Amino acid sequence: MVIKVISFDVDGTLVDASFADLVWREGMPRLLAAKEGITFQEAREILDRRYDDIGEEDLRWYLPGYWWEDLDLPGTPEDLIREYAHRVEVFPEVEGVLQELMGEYELIACSNAAREFLEVSLLDLCGYFGHTFSSTTDFQMVRKFPDFYRHVCTILKVRPGEVVHVGDHPKFDYQVPRASGMTAYHLDRSGDAKGRETVGDLREFRDALAGLD
Ligand SMILES: [Mg+2]
Repeated sequence: MVIKVISFDVDGTLVDASFADLVWREGMPRLLAAKEGITFQEAREILDRRYDDIGEEDLRWYLPGYWWEDLDLPGTPEDLIREYAHRVEVFPEVEGVLQELMGEYELIACSNAAREFLEVSLLDLCGYFGHTFSSTTDFQMVRKFPDFYRHVCTILKVRPGEVVHVGDHPKFDYQVPRASGMTAYHLDRSGDAKGRETVGDLREFRDALAGLD
């Protein structure tokens, strides 16, 4: 089948994942501390407990709007997230590879990060992507479950066999899209993982793609 769409995970694949952590673990405690008149450390402990209580399997954990309302934080999530925009680090090979691929395929970005984060993460790369999808904001799913990939194909009007996905999560970027009928590659930037469909960076991914034709 002819490949039409190349789908990229975002955190850990296109950009370093630490930017969102800074917002959750530095920016939000800072706002909470100022509002409550407590120390940064105290605010951080309160927030860490709240994050744990909600937990990563709960959609609310991912959605900045929930936390702003729950904690009555000043300003908007977008304001705080934008403050950290300069901390987004795009991996060095990414732009060159996207540039090479964009003429030949439709490029999309698929993440479970909330859209507020996704837009800032992709600020310098948005010109490459025809569509971006947030599993949490767009489909109310905490992970890229099979239905996520099904929805994406429906929206793009392509069959799973016409899509190649790459990302750094062994289950949600490799096993799930594969089981959904896509071609998938697991990106392991540490170079520890081995396998026919494992790549160490996006240049290796591009080379693997060329081998598919
Ligand atoms: Mg990732």
